[in-house]
Amino acid sequence: MRTSELVFRSRREVPQDAEAASHKALIRGNYIRRLTSGVYSFLPLGYQVLRNIEHIVEEELDRAGASQLLLPALQPVDIWRATGRIDKMADVLFRVDGKSGSFVLGPTHEEAVIEAMSPDIESYRDLPKLVYQVQTKFRDEPRARFGLMRTREFIMADGYSFDIDRETMRQSYQRFYEAYLAIFARLGLQAEPVEADAGSIGGDVNHEFMVASSIGEDHFARCGDCGYQANIEAARAGAHPPVAVALDVEAVTYSTPNAPGIEIAVKALRDLGAEVEVGTMLKSMLLVDETGARVIALIPGDRTLKVPHGMRLATDAEMAGFAKGYIGPQGHSSEVRVIADPLVLTRPSWASGANKEGHHSVGLRVGVDFEVDSFVDLVVVEDGDPCPRCEGVLSLVRSVEVGHTFQLGLTYSGVLPQARYRSFEGEELPYWMGCYGIGVTRVPAVIAEQYCSSDGDAVVWPVAVAPYVVSIVGVGATKTNEVTAVAAQLHESIGQSGVSVLLEDRNISTGVAMRDLELIGSPLFCIVGARSLAKGVVELRDRIHDQTIEVPVEEIVATIHTFSRDLASERR
Ligand code: ATP
Ligand code: MG
Repeated sequence: MRTSELVFRSRREVPQDAEAASHKALIRGNYIRRLTSGVYSFLPLGYQVLRNIEHIVEEELDRAGASQLLLPALQPVDIWRATGRIDKMADVLFRVDGKSGSFVLGPTHEEAVIEAMSPDIESYRDLPKLVYQVQTKFRDEPRARFGLMRTREFIMADGYSFDIDRETMRQSYQRFYEAYLAIFARLGLQAEPVEADAGSIGGDVNHEFMVASSIGEDHFARCGDCGYQANIEAARAGAHPPVAVALDVEAVTYSTPNAPGIEIAVKALRDLGAEVEVGTMLKSMLLVDETGARVIALIPGDRTLKVPHGMRLATDAEMAGFAKGYIGPQGHSSEVRVIADPLVLTRPSWASGANKEGHHSVGLRVGVDFEVDSFVDLVVVEDGDPCPRCEGVLSLVRSVEVGHTFQLGLTYSGVLPQARYRSFEGEELPYWMGCYGIGVTRVPAVIAEQYCSSDGDAVVWPVAVAPYVVSIVGVGATKTNEVTAVAAQLHESIGQSGVSVLLEDRNISTGVAMRDLELIGSPLFCIVGARSLAKGVVELRDRIHDQTIEVPVEEIVATIHTFSRDLASERR
């Protein structure tokens, strides 16, 4: 390819809506263009990167034994009704009402893949099956952000596995999991598999593949000692040592009018002479469980509540009979279950609401002034919490999710009558599923974020995804015929050797040319100048290590091959 043929315009200005360095670099490099918020076109350079990524994904999934198919993005609404996800995912669904009926633009494809695969899964002999597609997804994300990071239309490589039982489902899961590790390594991304929460997809075991990044919207907890890693929703802290209940403390109730909520209560209590702090207050919150029963959840005032599965915060209407803003742990009727995080055992006594409008109590002791029915994990982990697996300490890592693997089990097949196979014994049983997704269009943003300068100037792409591995430029105030001829000849021979190469052939100054080529981001520059040609050499610049060497013209093809192979393996 020649620069004169590229869809490319020098863009020095930084786009106004771009906060992330990767977003700036992708816009300035002519990779993507915004159509509307969260919707982007891939210009030829960006599309080339995307195809390189897809190619790696396809190679590894094929190797794992998955067959590629293509499911429709336009899906009839009834299949979404059948699984109940028409309601569960209502927030993000794009719905289309046409003359021919009501449709959903697929945000994910579990329903569609079951429809497509079930007729071919009759008996245990037809299993296992692993399939995947590379397909556009639509999600009405409330906050589209950072260019390609979070968009409303994006491409996902989504895989699905079908098995006869839990054990074989786990084996299929393992195949995808290992393929994912191989894919991210080839893409030059350090993606860490972390234990995760199932969310609206459902199921049991699952892992998110996270890349540490300062612009990440997620956090995962990591133990430096034993390697425990879990995302913030799934992470558990280890036990903090409990302390003895205070014996010389007496519970005292204070009148604290107009002081609902921890911070205001602390101020009001201190004004009254009570020695309390946010961390010595007990947050007492009203939850509702699956049966509609009310549950009081207790956590320290300086921690964030993690609502347990199957429960939710009570609505205002459900708070009737409770002193909103002044709820405490003590004196509830036996129908109200009290659950507490084990951290509640780490202080001899607590201050909390007094279950009476405008009142707080101080000196409340667990087991004396209030009872706890069960201790459960109720807080979001924080930096410095003990590791649940060893003696180590957890730290939080800000990160971006690039992939997700789920053991779905019977979540979908259990409710869809067609999702069955006939067992060896002749029984009709639901098959065991897994689902797997890589954010194909998010990946260029994550790579760019890792491999661009902090001012969003330009990306140096890893060899595996670079639109052009080598950029050739002839230099010198007046390019001699020889410079032009050698540059053109190298373009030809490097291209023929199978390495993607770009030739700067525009009639522009060397400075402008170099600046543009930097925006395009090849990891290798081949610089042809009259002075070096006189010595029979050209310059080869390895932009990843910022090193330049001189290479005899006749050795350049072989040298580039060695370089690009070394650079590719180094970034794995
Ligand atoms: P996130 O937590 O980032 O919203 P998710 O957990 O909702 O993602 P999954 O349903 O697990 O996403 O989808 C699989 C993969 O698709 C994600 O790991 C991510 O890489 C990608 N992805 C999801 N939503 C988007 C989006 N709005 N824009 C770009 N990529 C996305
Ligand atoms: Mg996810």
